[in-house]
Amino acid sequence: MSGQMRSTTVHVSESALDTIRAAATLSHPLETGGILVGVHTSRYPWVTHAVEFATVERGHTAYRLPAGVTRRAVRRLRDLDPRVGYLGDWHSHPMDVPASATDRLTTVTTAVRTMQPTLLLIARRVEDQYAIDLHLARGVRLRTCAIIPTGDLPVPSTENEHTHG
Ligand SMILES: [Zn+2]
Repeated sequence: MSGQMRSTTVHVSESALDTIRAAATLSHPLETGGILVGVHTSRYPWVTHAVEFATVERGHTAYRLPAGVTRRAVRRLRDLDPRVGYLGDWHSHPMDVPASATDRLTTVTTAVRTMQPTLLLIARRVEDQYAIDLHLARGVRLRTCAIIPTGDLPVPSTENEHTHG
């Protein structure tokens, strides 16, 4: 009974989607990738930023995040907005192939280790464009997600904080 599939929806800012598509296109036919940063809402994560990391460890079918860059990039974004944190990884597939077994295993391993829902985003070449596949791991379960494009995270209003106390 596959008609009963419920879809998981994840919000992704349009600026993050643009960043990923542009980076994948520029890097083509080599892979590129990076991390997804955002906030955990009540049910699902909301991706507000995508960061690309330049690396020499890449090829037509390989991309490995440079060591130590994730923590630095997250810290830099948190300086600008302390609400955000690491949500997962992304990379491009210059050929029309879905997330590999290794891609899936890496994501599930992170979700189990951090005990946080973890995203895997693949920018997959389809004809002359990059399509976006998004997966969410909760524990050992990895599901495909529907993407809801959004605007950027609203700027926090700190001005009212002291007047309602
Ligand atoms: Zn991959």
